[in-house]
Order: sequence, then C-alpha cells, then structure tokens
Amino acid sequence: MLSNLNQPLRTLPGIGLKREKVLEDAGIATVGDLLLYLPYRYVDRSTEVGIAHLPLDREVTAVGEIVSMQMLPGKRRRFVMAVEDETGAVACTWFAGFQYFKNSYRAGDTVALGGKLTRFGRTLQMVHPEIEVLANEGDDNQRLHTGRIIPLYSTTAKMKADRLTARALRRLLFAALEAVGNDIEDPLDEAIRKRCGVMGLCAAIEKLHFPDAISEVDMARQRLAFDEILYVQLHIGQRKKTRQHAPGRVLISDGPLARQLIARLPFELTQAQARAIAEIARDLQRPVPMHRLLQGDVGSGKTLVALLAMLAAADSGAQAALMAPTEILVEQHARTIREWVAPLGLEVALITARMRKAERVEVLDGLRCGAIKLVVGTHALLQPDVAFADLALIAVDEQHRFGVVQRAALREKGHTAHLLVMTATPIPRSLSLTLYGDLDVTVIDALPPGRLPVRTGWRFARERDRALQFLSSELGQGRQAYIVYPLVSESEKSDLQAATEAYEDLQGGALSKFRLGLLHGRLKREKKEAAMSAFRCGDLDALVTTTVVEVGVDVPNATVVMVEHAERFGLSQLHQLRGRVGRGPCQSYCILIADPQDALSNEARERLDAMARTTDGFEISEADLRIRGPGHIFGTQQAGFPRFHFADLARDGAIIRAARREAQALLDRDIDLTSHAVLKRELDAVSLRDMQIVEAG
Ligand code: ADP
Ligand code: MG
Repeated sequence: MLSNLNQPLRTLPGIGLKREKVLEDAGIATVGDLLLYLPYRYVDRSTEVGIAHLPLDREVTAVGEIVSMQMLPGKRRRFVMAVEDETGAVACTWFAGFQYFKNSYRAGDTVALGGKLTRFGRTLQMVHPEIEVLANEGDDNQRLHTGRIIPLYSTTAKMKADRLTARALRRLLFAALEAVGNDIEDPLDEAIRKRCGVMGLCAAIEKLHFPDAISEVDMARQRLAFDEILYVQLHIGQRKKTRQHAPGRVLISDGPLARQLIARLPFELTQAQARAIAEIARDLQRPVPMHRLLQGDVGSGKTLVALLAMLAAADSGAQAALMAPTEILVEQHARTIREWVAPLGLEVALITARMRKAERVEVLDGLRCGAIKLVVGTHALLQPDVAFADLALIAVDEQHRFGVVQRAALREKGHTAHLLVMTATPIPRSLSLTLYGDLDVTVIDALPPGRLPVRTGWRFARERDRALQFLSSELGQGRQAYIVYPLVSESEKSDLQAATEAYEDLQGGALSKFRLGLLHGRLKREKKEAAMSAFRCGDLDALVTTTVVEVGVDVPNATVVMVEHAERFGLSQLHQLRGRVGRGPCQSYCILIADPQDALSNEARERLDAMARTTDGFEISEADLRIRGPGHIFGTQQAGFPRFHFADLARDGAIIRAARREAQALLDRDIDLTSHAVLKRELDAVSLRDMQIVEAG
C-alpha cells in the first residue's frame, strides 16, 4: 500500500542496525511497513474519568500513576500495585507473574488498567487487570501519552527485550509520521475519493495511529479496506478483460450425444437445470474460454449439468475431464456417468492415486491418443504424465476443496479449455462479489420436484439412545442411514478409533438387527469401494463413517444422517453432511448430537440452532458469516480465500459495492490505468497470490 516508502528503517531517527533487525523479525522491514503497523486498541484519555468516578462492576479503563508495589506473602501469594490519580486510588492484584511485574513496572509510571472495578470495604480494586504503561516518570514527550486518544501497539518478546515497548513504538511512529508523512502518495485522486466517500490515505494512516476521536478510527479503517477491495477488483477485472481476448474453441452444445442423453433421462430436467444448461451452452458456442461457477445447493442436480457440458466436448470430437476431491466421490461420478452414457456408446475413464499400474498406463494412453473422451478423477489428474490429445472442457466438482494451485494445474492441461467449477457451498453475495469476481456465476436455485426439506434437530448426548431408536425404526422400514464421526484429519488415529469402536458397539448393541458397514479415509481403495457399493445397492442398512462422505455422495434411499459431536463441525460442513439425505421422495431426518467435553459454547449452540431453523443453504452461509466471520467460512480447506487486513466482508458490504463499481469504471476507461500512475504502481506491487483470490485459471 505504500510501496514508495520502501527505504530501510534505519533512515528514521532513533533506529539503529540492532533495532532495525528486531523490527524486521517482527515483519516490519521498511518505513512503509512501520506506518502500517497499527494499534490493536486505543485508550481514550481525552475524556478521562477520574478513578473515583468510574462505574463499578463493569469493564472500565482506569489511568493513574503507580504509587506502590508489593508482594504479599500468605497462602495465596499475590502482587499488589496501588495506582492513583487526583480523585482516588485503586488496588490491583495479581496471583501470578510476580517476577515479570517487578521487572516491568516502576513507581512513578503512568499506567492504563483494563478490567472490572469492584469495591472491597473502602478500597477500590481490580483483580488481574490488563495493564499497559502509558508513560514513564519524566517522559520527554508527555503529550503523546496523556490527554488524548492513545494507541496501544502489540510487542513481541524480542521487541520488549530491546526496550521497544508499546510506548517506544508510539514515539517511533509519531516520529516516522513527522519525517515521511508528506511522502505518503495517495493512489486515489480527489475525484475518486469524493465519488467513493473515502478519506485521503495520508490522513487515514495518521488517524489510525493518532486519532482525535474514536469515530475517526473506523473511517480511517474504511479507507484502507476500500483500497484492499479495490485492488482485488482491479486485478480480477484486468484478468477478465484479458481473458475475453484469449482464443477459445466453439463447442457443439446440442449435438447428438447430448440430445440422446436428455431423451433417455428417467426424469425431466428441472427448470433451474435447463436454465443453467442454456447459459453454459451459450458460453460454449463462443470462441472465448468459458469461466463459470455453477452454484447449487446440495442435491440440486449439478452433476447432470456438468455432464451435458462434457458431452458438448465429446460431440465436438474433443475431450472433457471432471475433477472431484475424494476417491469416493470420483468412484460415484464414474459410476453414474457410466450408467448415463453407456447406452450412447461412450466410455468413461477413471483416474485416482491408488489405481493399479497397468490400468493407469492404459488410461493414460487412451487420453494421450484421444480415444477416451470422458475422464473422471481426483487430483491424480494433475500428475505431469497425464496428458490429453485435445482437452476442451474441464469441470471441477466441489471446487472449494481444491486450492488455487491445483485448479491452475488442471487448466494447464488444456490451454484454451472451457472451465466449469461447481460448488454447493453457498456464498453470501458480499463474498461472492469479491471471491468469485473472476467467474461468471450460474445458480441452480431449485431442487428436483418431490423433495421434502430434511427435518433437523439437535440433542445432547444423553438422548442418543432415543435418537438411535428412531434411527432403527427408519432402518426397519427399509430406509438407510449414515452415522458420522468427526475426523479432524485423516491421520488422527484417535478419531478413527472412535468411529471403529462405535461401529463395533452399535453392531453388538443398539443396531444389532441391522447390517452395518464401516467407511473411513484410511481404508484401502477396494474396501472403501466395497463398503460404498454395498451401501448403495442396499446390502448395508447403515454406514458408520467419518467425514469422507461429507461431499457429493448420493444414495437416495438414505433418510437419516446422525452426526456425533456435531458441536465440532462448522456450519457449512454440517449442511453438506445433511445434504447426504433428502435425495429421494421420502421424508429425511438429520439428528445432530452435541457431546461437548465441557459446556457447549455459545457459538456451537448458534450453529446447531441455525441448522435446526433452516435448510436453505444461503441462510446457512449468512449465519456462518455472522457467527464466525468470513475467514472461517470455508474452513482450512479453502486455500483460495482472500486474507484481508482491514476489510470485513461481513460488515463492509457498502464498501465492497463502491470499490467494485469504481474498479469497473476505471478499467472501462483504461484497462492499463496509465493515467493513474500511483494506483498502477501499488496494484503491481501486490501479486494475485498475495491477495489469495480464487484463481480459476
Ligand atoms: P448435487 O447438486 O448435490 O451434486 P447430484 O447431481 O448428485 O446433486 O444430484 C442429486 C440426485 O438428484 C441424483 O440422484 C440425481 O440423479 C438426481 N437428479 C438430478 N436431476 C434430477 C431431476 N431433474 N429430477 C429428479 N432427480 C434428479
Ligand atoms: Mg455433487
């Protein structure tokens, strides 16, 4: 954001080589970095209330001078510090960290205390308050530390060891702003700032460090948030424009294969599917590579839409690949697609990491010479020896499970290929504008007819027996069920053990009348396949499983999904798991069992309540965004999630819209931004990878 201020820190007063190194270790390498090292909190000393006048039993900030410190011996040793101002005194007590307190504070220091003020007899006291030194006795620049809003900076251990305290940082930043404040160049000229209602960059940075009123801090933050979003939007916009000039190939979208498939379907396409297919067909008929996101709730029938796009490639004599994140899902796709296209005389190849060598060689040959038109695979498709004769369409299922690099690697395999990425993770609009600005979006907004919303409830573990009774009654009627155990990662043995033990317990006890299967990621491919296909054809009544069934699995006769330790799952995960049922005409049920170690956290309770309240994926994702904030919405799997320092995607909808509008206007006038030199420079200074944008190609 301040790429012209890249001079070394030692050019500033008060910074020598040693201190420069300490700061560098904390990620502050240049003067520009220092100016963007922002306070984590502010203490308002401009409207300070005397200690005696502070309200009791509430979180307050008290400011005063340390008058005494002592260790009190006894059964519970404690460290007591008396802090005083003109109006009164407060006694602060800590029961730990004695040595630290003795070394860090001295009588005469002015400190800010954060915590609850209580009255004990005639004394005011604070137990374990947060404490921050605002000024030392005889400090030079008092006005920085008193009578105003004071910024508090976090400090690393190394910084503290070099006496770079929060106070010293405050001084340093003040000096830095005096020295180079005038060199802060604003990438947005006055016309843009006016149009978008944001303050100047120099003012914003100053206000973030030394605001005159607390309200200025948020206005300043909004300016930096605006820049962040604007850069993302400009990058995306430039790429999109460039792409529109890339050569692509025209595909025949309603050729004989596609038409035969539609004619043979045992059901009618839903209107939403038909609309999606038409939108995709329009893309495929243009000589520009398609770049489309197909978004549809779980069970909305995305696979078929993707298959029709793939058939457009086959109808044009070219090849198509479908990539999915798990072996189980890939096997399922291969099976369904084979069923659909076998009557058309088409072969579907399969590539996974664990396939036999001879088989693999055969598939690779078929792809290289073009004999195989359709292939389905895991990320094993990305291996360098997988080469295509003529790859014209790439579909990526559950795309949020893949990282930026993986999507790009697949795209390398077919240079001008059309790209269709699919997701069931519903994304709130504010997010999709930022995250998927590079993709055109098609939404399948309806489920196939006759589907009933899944009835969902959550219970504490003490009611598990009743839940199991209900589950057995469904099994007794010929339905099937999933019983899901959390698995943080496939290497977590203890969790696998939990699933395995539960399987044995259930088979020996509550569900002894039924045929149970066990399925988890650690099983050999053959075993996984065997369990999954036994479940699919009804030879198993219930699957005890881990989250390997989370995405994509489609067994319409399954009507109950029971999730153990549901409090450990994120909302979008729970929604995906629930999506394993409700795929047929029968009423389905989702039972979430909360079994927390301690008390159920408020957040977990909110998630479970949200699941019980709605089955609408969009509402779920809005709730998720509210409860956890955008950084978590995709869990750790979402490699392509942008990390913003200042923007808050849950709150900054207006800023996002303004930045997006401005980016479009700027690029429409001049895609190279030649008349905005500073903006161009800053934009070039951040790479797309740094921004962590979802890169579809
Ligand atoms: P998702 O969008 O979650 O990937 P799938 O593609 O797995 O959904 O489809 C869910 C189920 O709905 C499958 O069994 C599929 O065969 C079926 N299906 C797809 N389209 C229709 C339709 N138009 N009418 C009825 N069933 C459909
Ligand atoms: Mg699917």
